[in-house]
Amino acid sequence: MTDKKESSISSDELDKNFKYEVAAQPGGENIKKCFSCGTCTAGCPVSEVEEEFNPRKIIRMVLLGMKKEVLSSNVIWYCCSCYTCYAQCPQNVKFTDVMAALRHLAIKQGYVSKDFLDKVYKIDNLAQKIRLDIIKCLTKEQISNKTKADITAKVKEFIKTQKEKVH
Ligand code: SF4
Ligand code: SF4
Repeated sequence: MTDKKESSISSDELDKNFKYEVAAQPGGENIKKCFSCGTCTAGCPVSEVEEEFNPRKIIRMVLLGMKKEVLSSNVIWYCCSCYTCYAQCPQNVKFTDVMAALRHLAIKQGYVSKDFLDKVYKIDNLAQKIRLDIIKCLTKEQISNKTKADITAKVKEFIKTQKEKVH
């Protein structure tokens, strides 16, 4: 999911209806409000440890109409649904819900196999645990370096496990 990839797609490969399709899904309603400020990416704990995962870029690709590239990409499964971006977005895009909408479309339209889904569901417990840790961290007034390091380690573990399962 690189800028090079964005620029290498010709206009006849783009699906101009994709953004409307996503906006019609529960959770995808606000996607067109995104003005590409990058706040979501800057605060995302997954982006911090996995440069391939970039919420701002995923939205940009949806708005451009890169349907096949987005729905067949492994990165839409990397989000651990911590809701950090949800709280920080100035446009109320609700990116966490957009991710859920993209995953739903990927499943519904046959971009992922049943075997893949079985693997993803198996690691959902780990995602839940990381989410809880991040929420605990966010509700503290002062985040200690140790807490931050612990969370970064857990997110790295999550991404490593996710990559092993999806490849
Ligand atoms: S923070 Fe909101 S407006 Fe800014 S790039 Fe992310 S989704 Fe778009
Ligand atoms: S909900 Fe997903 S995209 Fe948003 S900050 Fe958390 S991991 Fe990143």
